Amino acid sequence: MMLLEETRAILADLIAFPTISSDSNLELIAYAADRLGALGARISVMRDDSGRKANLFATLGPDTGGGIVLSGHSDVVPVADQEWSSDPFTLREAEGRLYGRGSCDMKGFIAACLAVAPRYAAAELRRPVHFSLTYDEEVGCLGARHLVDELAAQDIRPAVAIIGEPTGMKIIEGHKGCCEYTTVFTGLEGHGSLPHRGVNAVEYAVRYVSRLMELREELKRDAPRDSRFDPPHTTVQVGRLIGGVAHNVIPGHCVLDWEMRPVRHEDRARLLAAMEAFARDSLLPEMRGVAPEAAIVTHVIGEVEGLVPASDNEARAILSELTGANDAGVVSFGTEAGLFQSLGMSVVVCGPGSIEQAHKPDEFVSLDQLDACLAMLLGLERKLAG
Ligand SMILES: [Zn+2]
Repeated sequence: MMLLEETRAILADLIAFPTISSDSNLELIAYAADRLGALGARISVMRDDSGRKANLFATLGPDTGGGIVLSGHSDVVPVADQEWSSDPFTLREAEGRLYGRGSCDMKGFIAACLAVAPRYAAAELRRPVHFSLTYDEEVGCLGARHLVDELAAQDIRPAVAIIGEPTGMKIIEGHKGCCEYTTVFTGLEGHGSLPHRGVNAVEYAVRYVSRLMELREELKRDAPRDSRFDPPHTTVQVGRLIGGVAHNVIPGHCVLDWEMRPVRHEDRARLLAAMEAFARDSLLPEMRGVAPEAAIVTHVIGEVEGLVPASDNEARAILSELTGANDAGVVSFGTEAGLFQSLGMSVVVCGPGSIEQAHKPDEFVSLDQLDACLAMLLGLERKLAG
């Protein structure tokens, strides 16, 4: 099949751009912009503050709202300390599999979209199709956040987004969010024999953790009744607590790393507001009674929005029609989908390859999976043109 050959050739090109999240993705973006621009697509390149990375948002079809976004992240995870059988940035084919860093996560999907793009360009599309290539997905979905802000600012209102993360071409309609925080406690050092003259940062951190654990139980009780997540509720977890120097020294400093995985958007705001109120109303007045400079500061390390399953989901309906799958599942890994959903779009995750291979040495996508993805994308063309 010609289209599969074309997809393979494009995938070889994409894999050869070593777009590890820490490095520039501009060459890949220029490559995709050239291809889509040559088809007459309206191109928007959005650079990050460093100027070394960019999103690409390219549109074919009418200049209206209500379009379909095909979205993939351009960055890949590092290969350092991994044992590969061949160069990770050179496509290798063996036994129906295409190997290379990013082959399934998620350059295979991007290659399929670029291969099908000429058909979209030639068709009389009734709704626009947008190609979205983002940066820095693997380090907190920074590019997608930039992209959705830009779409909102420019009042570009697509209706549907298909995020082509590797799901084995199954339809995924939900995943939890993933939010990471570091809370820093500043107290006052002192001698262990005179605890009233110091502010014990570790002890205040422990009280903070206790409050987190109380709220965790509340979130557990409040799990949405129809939740299909495992576990069904929003989770909170303490990952690391560092503070203190010796038995007899009052620790003046303590650092707490913790995370939350919300099953619905409001749980995050609710927990953060409750913790802020606890710090402000209960802990800080005591701490500052001894040391006015005492502080509790929470830094956001990353906040990846969840994809909340919606009862009415046009994206799911379209993908069911195109793939023949009647059911949609939920997964445990995070994607950019929640950010698109926050813009009011209906969103599913559906793409070629398996998350089992993502981030691992000898990452691959099978030709069968690419073929299934191409069939879906061709079906979409017929649906939008017919
Ligand atoms: Zn990915």
